[in-house]
Amino acid sequence: MRDISHKLAFAHDGKAARYSDVFDPNDGTVQARVALGDAALLDKAVEAAKKAQPAWAAVNPQRRARVMFNFKALVEKHMDELAHLLSSEHGKVIADAKGDIQRGLEVIEFCCGIPHVLKGEYTQGAGPGIDVYSFRQPIGIGAGITPFNFPGMIPLWMSGVAIATGNAFIMKPSERDPSVPVRLAELFLEAGLPEGILQVVQGDKEMVDAILDHPDIGAISFVGSSDIAHYVYKRGVDNGKRVQAMGGAKNHGIVMPDADLDQVVNDLSGAAFGSAGERCMALPVVTPVGEKTAIALREKLIPAIEALRVGVSTDPDAHYGPVVTAAHKAKIEDYIQMGVDEGAELVVDGRGFTLQGHEEGFFVGPTLFDHVKPSMRSYQEEIFGPVLQMVRAESFEEALAFPSQHQYGNGVAIFTRNGHAAREFAARVNVGMVGINVPIPVPVAYHTFGGWKRSAFGDTNQHGMEGVKFWTKVKTITQRWPDGGGTGDSAFVIPTMG
Ligand code: NAD
Repeated sequence: MRDISHKLAFAHDGKAARYSDVFDPNDGTVQARVALGDAALLDKAVEAAKKAQPAWAAVNPQRRARVMFNFKALVEKHMDELAHLLSSEHGKVIADAKGDIQRGLEVIEFCCGIPHVLKGEYTQGAGPGIDVYSFRQPIGIGAGITPFNFPGMIPLWMSGVAIATGNAFIMKPSERDPSVPVRLAELFLEAGLPEGILQVVQGDKEMVDAILDHPDIGAISFVGSSDIAHYVYKRGVDNGKRVQAMGGAKNHGIVMPDADLDQVVNDLSGAAFGSAGERCMALPVVTPVGEKTAIALREKLIPAIEALRVGVSTDPDAHYGPVVTAAHKAKIEDYIQMGVDEGAELVVDGRGFTLQGHEEGFFVGPTLFDHVKPSMRSYQEEIFGPVLQMVRAESFEEALAFPSQHQYGNGVAIFTRNGHAAREFAARVNVGMVGINVPIPVPVAYHTFGGWKRSAFGDTNQHGMEGVKFWTKVKTITQRWPDGGGTGDSAFVIPTMG
């Protein structure tokens, strides 16, 4: 049995008191086991980080950026290897695995420009002989805790910005697909990153709690499901840390009567079923506006869904592969049953799907529900599988209300040819990321990623300038250089510049 261990700045025998199975979702077998670390291991990683970080923070930003340039080239060189590794543990198809890594690399490209971003601000002559300037300094030691569904992109969102801004960073990947972050850390070392600046510790709740309680970790970035995000946020903040914690999602696609339905069906097929629906920016809810739109959309959607090809993750013709574990497959199928029990119409049933030669794989066929109501639990909760729920709306106002009133507020999309409706929707919808004729509105790396409501706890987003703010503290200097002679009078009132 292959063991997956940590990537640490000190010698470690890779052994652990506890292990967790890592599956091959294509055929349901256990392909490896990952060592689960504990508080003692984290202590050692923090000690190594503490030793390395001051010198790294003192490296000028241009040189730090050069490591990012080198790293980008190395990841591009190893793209095939990384994508296969990612796909073999996660189950997403190879082309999608490359997209996962590529979206993370785009954040690294943003980090290549870190000297420009860290220039700071300066006011000359803020008062008589007084100048004021401010600059950003690293937090010191940061940590990242990531979900299973983007094992390339999300570790790179966090580690890239944290490292480029001069921090040491400790990464705790999902125990379900833990290998890619280890490989990325190796490539960072090859790119010239000093030992101790990026370490990977493996683990589950025990390791997460150790990170949350460690006095020397100053900032924690978390991405995962909402209840755990909320827990991480509360415990981290109680311990005096800076915390950003992204949670679950239930994104809606609003289809206006004037939308190009063929394009919408194409967009929905990819956005609802790509990566087996295991994306926080998937579109698992479609809301056609008006009866006519609903009937026409349904007619076009059914054959498109039935034509989707589910296959092993290495099948180049597959639209999507297996879900991550047997437990997750069972959870998705339970939600499908819940939808049936709640009275929604099951139009296409993906349960019981088997792939010849891979009967034990964690496959779920594409599923479509119609006549789903906002009062249903299967609508209110995140399913995170290849299940599309149609929630019909009578009017624009009703369609606007569904995502706005939902507990999650990650992403939303509107499909229309009407600029006024789109503009109105974008301004009024109570959701953090909006697509206008764009089904998966994941912002580019130099903007920022983050949802609203129970999709994110804390007030700074991932990457872009928000990421830079999260991983740094601002320091403001007020300076006066008197020209000598005489001492001023003591001032007993608060100084003003007036
Ligand atoms: P998860 O919440 O189960 O796990 C996330 C991390 O938390 C993992 O590293 C895991 O080891 C750790 N963890 C699990 N249980 C814990 C516990 N009881 N205490 C402390 N830590 C614990 O999430 P997942 O299933 O790996 O990922 C899917 C979820 O992530 C979905 O809800 C999805 O919407 C969400 N997600 C959100 C975003 C976003 O940006 N909003 C992006 C990607 C995924």
